[in-house]
Amino acid sequence: MLPTTAPAAADAHAGTNWCLFLDRDGVINTRIMGGYVRSWSEFTFVPGALDALAALATWAPRIVVVTNQQGIGKALMSLDDLVALHAQMTEAVAAAGGRIDAIEFCPHLDAAGCVCRKPRPGMATRYLDAHPEVVGAASVMVGDTDSDIEMGHRLAAITGGCHTVRIGEKVDQRADETHPDLAAFAASLEAARRR
Ligand SMILES: [Mg+2]
Ligand SMILES: [Zn+2]
Repeated sequence: MLPTTAPAAADAHAGTNWCLFLDRDGVINTRIMGGYVRSWSEFTFVPGALDALAALATWAPRIVVVTNQQGIGKALMSLDDLVALHAQMTEAVAAAGGRIDAIEFCPHLDAAGCVCRKPRPGMATRYLDAHPEVVGAASVMVGDTDSDIEMGHRLAAITGGCHTVRIGEKVDQRADETHPDLAAFAASLEAARRR
């Protein structure tokens, strides 16, 4: 099923203060096709994602969600809605033994041409700029769209490195690894650590 590259990230970063950047929709929670997850009642964790996040928390020194939320720019949801939703998500992840250290979101319209909407790397660079103790070149970016992988590449061009992980059924040649879901990615790391 996988990869081209071994789950290199598994041990390579031991002892380094690096950051795992995670896309939200389609990775942590189920996407609503053609719509937006506007409230906690519309939010459903992808099966296995909570356990995966707990496993990832033992591996990654920092876990930061990076998510485009254009629904705010379109006035389909408010900033308060998103902040409340993210508080509930973070709490549920913590209750399951996981950890989300920060959430960076882009509320802007695509047409606004902001620096933070993926595939632009602004959300990641904003976090890294605010946390100079984190080694940007050792970043890992996980996402389920071309845009996420492109963001990882653009981030790498700035920081000097970013390991990209595509979530999806079809192998993404542009990514360093592809896994069907976050649970499979976490399982591959666990397997690599046992070797
Ligand atoms: Mg996504
Ligand atoms: Zn933005």
